[in-house]
Amino acid sequence: MGGYGSGRSGYSQKAEHLKSLDVNRLHREGCLSPGRRGYWIWSRDGTETGRIAYHAEEHHLVLDYKVRLYGGEWKTITQSIPLTYAECNYGGTRPYFRCNGIVNGRHCTRRVGKVFAGGRYFLCRHCHNVAYASQSEPRYDRMLRRANKLRTALGGEPGIAHSIAAKPKGMWQRTYQRKRFEIEWCENQATHHFLSKFAHLLSPEEREMYFGH
Ligand SMILES: [Zn+2]
Repeated sequence: MGGYGSGRSGYSQKAEHLKSLDVNRLHREGCLSPGRRGYWIWSRDGTETGRIAYHAEEHHLVLDYKVRLYGGEWKTITQSIPLTYAECNYGGTRPYFRCNGIVNGRHCTRRVGKVFAGGRYFLCRHCHNVAYASQSEPRYDRMLRRANKLRTALGGEPGIAHSIAAKPKGMWQRTYQRKRFEIEWCENQATHHFLSKFAHLLSPEEREMYFGH
């Protein structure tokens, strides 16, 4: 299985400075149909700010571009990003990129709606650390971790999309209510912090995917 490193690990980049590819937009514009090729063009205020050659294969989007890092020579990069399709709640299917980043020796393989340019390759925001635009551990991450710990301690599944487990046998109702409240409070905080930081990057579908609402 092929994969790509994100260059310097621990290197934080602010998402708003990165060019991104949105799998749903590409899909809507027919760019994912096998055999299709062309250029994806970024623009700001009607001015082109960049373009990238792509072609679509069965289950892959192949990107061709040149990068120059740290003032070195231009290098030609061909990156093939796997595509995967998932059933929608409302019928039909929707596409996702399967991130092929390798960070700290581990394959990412996350199913994501967007990949970002930065360093050498287009990778998900986790791999680029763009979710972690601040150097210190962000509050939402800490909050989610706390909530997930409480969720699993109650015998449930981690993640906001899941419902909180029922009261375990032998636990006081009051204790259970307090834990429930803490989970919800942490998750509210996390959602708020996350959205206030990255709302401009998320489509409604992505918000649904990340937060289940
Ligand atoms: Zn990734």
